[in-house]
Parts: sequence; structure tokens; C-alpha cells
Amino acid sequence: MELIDNHTHLNDEPFRGKEEYYLERAKALGVTKVICAGQDPDFNQRAIDLADRFDEVYAMVGYCPDVAKDFDQKAEDELIEQLQMPKVVALGEVGLDYYWDESPRDVQRGVFARQIEIAHELKMPVNIHTRDAFEDCYNILKNSNLEYGAILHSFNGGVDWLNRFLKLNVYFSYSGVVSFTKATEVHESAKSVPMDRFLIETDAPYLTPKPYRGHQNETGYVRYVAETIAKLKGITLDEVAKATYANTVRVYDLK
Ligand SMILES: [Zn+2]
Repeated sequence: MELIDNHTHLNDEPFRGKEEYYLERAKALGVTKVICAGQDPDFNQRAIDLADRFDEVYAMVGYCPDVAKDFDQKAEDELIEQLQMPKVVALGEVGLDYYWDESPRDVQRGVFARQIEIAHELKMPVNIHTRDAFEDCYNILKNSNLEYGAILHSFNGGVDWLNRFLKLNVYFSYSGVVSFTKATEVHESAKSVPMDRFLIETDAPYLTPKPYRGHQNETGYVRYVAETIAKLKGITLDEVAKATYANTVRVYDLK
């Protein structure tokens, strides 16, 4: 069995200097590939460095909503250069965050839409963060060319949003949230998501799944996300592993 954590922050503070240790622990749980998410210039560079260092690590780079206000021509030129590096497999995480509102909303929307265009020009998928902003996110995606796919990271919508986004070339990535007892809407969407349209992730160090809630999350724990979805769908862990592995390799064009 092989699992892929398609959105993790191995480049974040708690893992620094201990990346190899966490990748070994992940391997012991069946996790053989991870995609490290960038979000700002510092994290983007750290994601690329880890992808250079470890065979099993890939990187994505982008300007998340918090730093959308800093996205100028120089930033765009640098991002385009980084996106063309061999182990950079997606543009992300980018999107809209109307909960923290660290950049003005119109700026968030403009920078999000522009980065989707860049991804399309480079024939790459986009990894999307959306918080309290489904309606605007949906409208931007509907008006974008998603020929190379988009992934809604830590998808926390219910069946209604699932069905709307399914009409676009969008994949749904489930995090530890799907294991939370109270996340009933997410349980329903995980039950009904088609087998060829979902992925799994940790978003570590955040969103620790059961049975480790209350502890720091780590990339290996994507296994517990997979186990939860298997139970919800009434299928085996192996079937979840096979489907999500194939879906991840397809959308990110992993070599
Ligand atoms: Zn993240």
C-alpha cells in the first residue's frame, strides 16, 4: 500500500532539522510521497529546498491570501521561475481567506485569478485554500481555464458545494477534519465524492486527525485520514490508497 500526502507543511517550524525523521515515520505508515506546500517567499523557497533534498518530496509554490497584498511584478517573475523547477508540481497554496482577511478582498480575488492564469500558461494544477469564501472561489474557478486541474485543499464543504464544484475540473482533498465527530457535512461529502475525484492530505502541523487529536500533526498521519474515508465509504483502506494514489499522480503529473 502506498499513500501520498498531497498538502503538508514539512517546511514549517516544528519540523525544521527533523524532516528526515518525519519522512521515516511516514514511510512506516505507508506514506511514500509528500507534496510540500509553499505560501509566501520564505516557505516557497523552503519547499523547493526540501524537494531538492529528498526524493519522495515534491513542492508547490504560490502567494497565499495573507501575502496577496505583496504580489507585484517582481514576485510574479520569481514565482514563474520557481514553477519551472523540476520538482515543483503545482501552484499553491493560493486562494481566498475571508476569515483572517490579511489582504483586502478585492486584492485576494485579483491575485488568485492571476495565479490561476499563470498555472494554466505553465500547464500546471492549482492547489486552493478557501476559507469563508466558497461563493467567490466558485465564481473565480468557473470563469478560469482549469484544463490542468485544481485541488480544493482541506475541502470542508458539504454535498451541495461538492456537486457544484464537481462540474469543474476540481479535485477534493480531505484532511483530518473528515475524522472530526462534529464535521457531519464533511462526512457526507466524503461519502458521495466519486472515487476518481478525491485526494488525501494532512496540512500538518495543523488539523491532526483522530486518534491523535490534541497532538501535533505530521505527514504520516494522512493514513488516518485514509482510514476514516474508507470507513465512511464502506470500502477498504487499500481501495482508498489505490484511488488517491492514482488521482494524485494524475492531477500533479508526478513522475
Ligand atoms: Zn496548508
